[in-house]
Amino acid sequence: MNSRRLNREKKTIEAMIGIYCRAHHYSQGELCQECGGLLHYAFARIEKCPHGDQKPACAKCRIHCYNKAMRDKVRQVMRFSGPRMMLRHPLLTALHYLDQVTKGEGVAIGRSRASGGV
Ligand SMILES: [Zn+2]
Repeated sequence: MNSRRLNREKKTIEAMIGIYCRAHHYSQGELCQECGGLLHYAFARIEKCPHGDQKPACAKCRIHCYNKAMRDKVRQVMRFSGPRMMLRHPLLTALHYLDQVTKGEGVAIGRSRASGGV
């Protein structure tokens, strides 16, 4: 199985968690325990994804294999790190995450679409 996409996804999530952890937990070099656990969890989910090579971005996936607590945490990380990612790692595909994460939650970035309601 070609795992290039999975690797890219791992790199993306790793970078995002790293940015988040440095900013919120003042970690240096290594992730704090909490974020390390989150990263480990995210990697495991990516590896076990039944979509394999056909894998869509996790945020777009219908299976929702993340448990709720972890998903909330990951979304928090993505929302924080997504915009920063694009400055620091423009080649990594943060965009598709960000798009999904911010959609319908009033967190308009770039365009202001303040239509209330869900
Ligand atoms: Zn942390």
